[in-house]
Amino acid sequence: MRTKEKYDLIIIGAGPGGSAAALAAAKRCSVAVIERRERCGVPVQCGEYAPLLLKRLAPWESRFAAQYLEGFDGFICGEKSFSRDAPGYVLRRSLYDGALAAAAADAGVDFFQPAKAVDCTGNGVIIDVGGTRRELKSSFLIGADGPRSLLRQWFGLREQPLMSAVQWSLTLASPLKRAEFYFDPRFRWGYGWLFPKGDTANVGVAARTEPGERLTSLLSAFARRLVEAGRLRPGPPLAKSGGWIPVGGPDVTMIFPRCLFVGDAGGFAHPVSGSGIVNAVLTGRLAGEAVTAALNGSAEGIAGYDRAWRRLLGRPLDRAAENRRLLQLGWTDDEERFRRLILHCWGPFS
Ligand SMILES: Cc1cc2nc3c(=O)[nH]c(=O)nc-3n(C[C@H](O)[C@H](O)[C@H](O)COP(=O)(O)OP(=O)(O)OC[C@H]3O[C@@H](n4cnc5c(N)ncnc54)[C@H](O)[C@@H]3O)c2cc1C
Repeated sequence: MRTKEKYDLIIIGAGPGGSAAALAAAKRCSVAVIERRERCGVPVQCGEYAPLLLKRLAPWESRFAAQYLEGFDGFICGEKSFSRDAPGYVLRRSLYDGALAAAAADAGVDFFQPAKAVDCTGNGVIIDVGGTRRELKSSFLIGADGPRSLLRQWFGLREQPLMSAVQWSLTLASPLKRAEFYFDPRFRWGYGWLFPKGDTANVGVAARTEPGERLTSLLSAFARRLVEAGRLRPGPPLAKSGGWIPVGGPDVTMIFPRCLFVGDAGGFAHPVSGSGIVNAVLTGRLAGEAVTAALNGSAEGIAGYDRAWRRLLGRPLDRAAENRRLLQLGWTDDEERFRRLILHCWGPFS
């Protein structure tokens, strides 16, 4: 691949946010993406549950969906407490992320991969490619480098409140058609999930742990209870993963004179549920469009990005951030108060 030293736009990270931004900008700008992983989306660090809407936001092929889901059920302290018919998919993120990146490459985007962005300069970034450092210059930067974004640090943004999560792939006792969310005072500030994926399920826990407590112990006990309840077959995990989920919501502004933040790097995951795939694709697209508009002389410049994401996501994310605050303040071991708190903050998926 012949690469350049200077681009209109450099994007750090080729998750769904970065690749969606690259695709949106590729038609009218020169774009480079820096991705540190050998393969996009691998290893998978995600429950992979996304609403049908995803199909309309970015290129879609039926192979991206491992399973169609009719909706979801919420269980509070073991009792089914809310339900919603909201069609969605459990994705194959390893395919989905790879295909979005491939579509961007086909549209003319240069990928530096595996390559890590290690520093920021006045007009570009320093990348490390196999131990060799190289400077790339650009007019604009998009930070799509996930929940622990380096670019956030370089731009002096506040550290995001993060929730840690662990997940195993386990075998289902019988096929399921709905996603399941589990609420238990032991999953402090978080929840457990079971997302069916054919014969298996992504089963995980996101929570804030107490000193000395291990998240995997919570997950192990949760999985045991699901086996006892006849939802899962006993047996060791087929795969293990985990990661960080931003739960603070986006900062007041996600633009700087020449840099925009999208997806988890911008805190766009839903502050209560932690779901972030759709918002990453959506904000990626909006940011790619804003940079294109700025390069083509729009008077608004990249400021259009803040207005655009706020119009679509501002209200629901503000409400969710408030619910996250209430959830953390009101967390309790008292079963009745706990039930009311979860119903207020989650049901019907506020
Ligand atoms: C355990 C778990 C379960 C989840 N389950 C769900 C779910 O079921 N549904 C849902 O909607 N969301 C879920 N999420 C959240 C979802 O995964 C994220 O919101 C989504 O991946 C955000 O996309 P992104 O493109 O912003 O960031 P990411 O997908 O994190 O992509 C960031 C990319 O940047 C790269 N990168 C980082 N730093 C650098 C660097 N310095 N140089 C080069 N490359 C770099 C990374 O390698 C990565 O490829 C879950 C998260 C976790 C941790």
